[in-house]
Amino acid sequence: MPATIVDQDKDVVGPFNRLSASQVNSFQSCPRLWFYEKNLHFKFPQVPVLFVGRAVEDAFCRMLRESPGLISSNASSETLSKIPLDQNGQPDRDDEKIWPSQRILPLPEKLLPKSLSQIRDWAISRIDSHLPVSLDLMRLEWEKDERKAGDWSDVNYAYCREMCINGLDMHIKELEACYENLGDDDLQTWRDGNRMMWPSPDGFGFNLTGSHPLASTAKITLLEAWEICRPWFVDPDAAKFSLNSIHPDFWFQGEYDLVYRWDGNIKIVDLKASLGKGDRSGDYVKQLRMYAMLWWVTHDKKEMVSELEVWYLGANKIKIIPNPSEKELKKMEEELNLLWKELKSSDISIENFPPIPSPVRGFLEGGVETASPNEKRCERCDWKVICPGGSGSDEFPVNKSFSIPGTITPIEVTRIEELDPRLSIVCNVFSVFDTKNNRPSITVSQGNSMAKIDILVDKHQDGQRPWPEQISKGDRILVENAVVTVNWKGELVLKIDPLGLISITDKEIKEYSDLMEFRARWNVVGKLVYKFDKKGIGRNGKQWHRKGVMIMDPSGSMKISGWANDWSSQYDMSQIGDLVLIANTGIDAWASQVRGDISRNSKIQVISST
Ligand code: SF4
Repeated sequence: MPATIVDQDKDVVGPFNRLSASQVNSFQSCPRLWFYEKNLHFKFPQVPVLFVGRAVEDAFCRMLRESPGLISSNASSETLSKIPLDQNGQPDRDDEKIWPSQRILPLPEKLLPKSLSQIRDWAISRIDSHLPVSLDLMRLEWEKDERKAGDWSDVNYAYCREMCINGLDMHIKELEACYENLGDDDLQTWRDGNRMMWPSPDGFGFNLTGSHPLASTAKITLLEAWEICRPWFVDPDAAKFSLNSIHPDFWFQGEYDLVYRWDGNIKIVDLKASLGKGDRSGDYVKQLRMYAMLWWVTHDKKEMVSELEVWYLGANKIKIIPNPSEKELKKMEEELNLLWKELKSSDISIENFPPIPSPVRGFLEGGVETASPNEKRCERCDWKVICPGGSGSDEFPVNKSFSIPGTITPIEVTRIEELDPRLSIVCNVFSVFDTKNNRPSITVSQGNSMAKIDILVDKHQDGQRPWPEQISKGDRILVENAVVTVNWKGELVLKIDPLGLISITDKEIKEYSDLMEFRARWNVVGKLVYKFDKKGIGRNGKQWHRKGVMIMDPSGSMKISGWANDWSSQYDMSQIGDLVLIANTGIDAWASQVRGDISRNSKIQVISST
């Protein structure tokens, strides 16, 4: 099975704590790089090429999802987009739900493509229908990203289209092979309307009633071969990250791009919208080998992958990755499990992740291995200014008190790991209403204090729903690990994120906090890692502009943001690597990440420059 339906009761790891191939590659290229990006959550600059890759894959998969027997070449790009999803964002298994392809009648004979070249023409028309939409959506996502970098006008539409067509031609080879070689039994099974546990996305549901609407009766047709050879891929309309394949013990996950399986053999393909030159091509080899392990362990260690391929759509070249043996898979599973335990251990710190990168690997177009270039990994690293591997250092001042211009008394700062945005309280439900998203809107009271509860998630990190099924006015509740903030009206808000939990209690609990105990403003000092910036137009038609910084101290990292006008000129003067003090910031949190929120009463001051 290419994807996993997680049994929440058994999932002791949770979606935020699994290992992935990208984490392994990041760690192996440089332990410090892993620590910065995965533990301290530094986000590297988001250049258009990252979004273009996703747009190319999206358009290509939308084309693959469609059928030349059902969708005319000039149909709307949205014809199959409204697939039913369940509460986890996976395609819905409820047979009562109506799927888009069910509503479509097969095209009349005269409109059907009759040859491979006509199928190719049809598919190119479909790419032309989807690609502008996919690229536009990605452009909007890029524009919204506070770490956006580069220039979208550098995106070359013709090159993106060419990459999709290169992928199509690679797929057509599978189509030809299927048309020539498919066995009679397999053909009949498909014609009878039988579907796999995870059918390849085609706009139909999990089960068909009767035979397949495009089934013929005599020799296999090209249209049938198109349907049968279609690989499994993540349905482009499923929720993000909802179709991962997950290790039976939940500690590793991956998302396959294409899984071909029409002849009973499993071929996993990774799509890369690139030429395949340079160091990263080494990562893709390891990624596919890890996917081979994932397939094997998710199939009771009884089914091995037959082929692993990287399709370099930019170079129009396929790279075949040698398949690991069963012995290698077993060893890989053991080693990755040890690595997961090491990386996810709760007491890791920066000293365990030395700034010692691996040598840069050399690859030519198409992922062909070549001599290593004479280049150090740190030279191109996004973190070279703050990292000892580049021009930075791990040094931090030991003092906790700083005098800055304009203040008479020195400012006492708190280490990032000691900032505590959470509170657990026992209180009474003052009012409760149902809302459109099915999460109750609750107001609570504790003595004379009132607070609103803002439930931000449907699942606690351990998988359970974070609020009780029955909750009514007057109930005595225990709110655990809520993030306390103050909204724009000055009201206290208890936010329930993946770590927060509400339960009804009648116990006498004394050790819990007072609503008024929470500390609203803090002072922190840290090294400036990067700045970010985000603009947009509000519902009132006015432009808004927020700016922020990512800082780190020896105990952790923190994103601090605020309205552009609330940052002083010191913000503009500060540079990457500078030691900056931020006084009087509010704090907020999401899971283990604490965030700062500055206001006009906050202050930023450069303490020392790089
Ligand atoms: S600068 Fe060098 S040592 Fe530091 S994170 Fe980057 S690659 Fe690793």
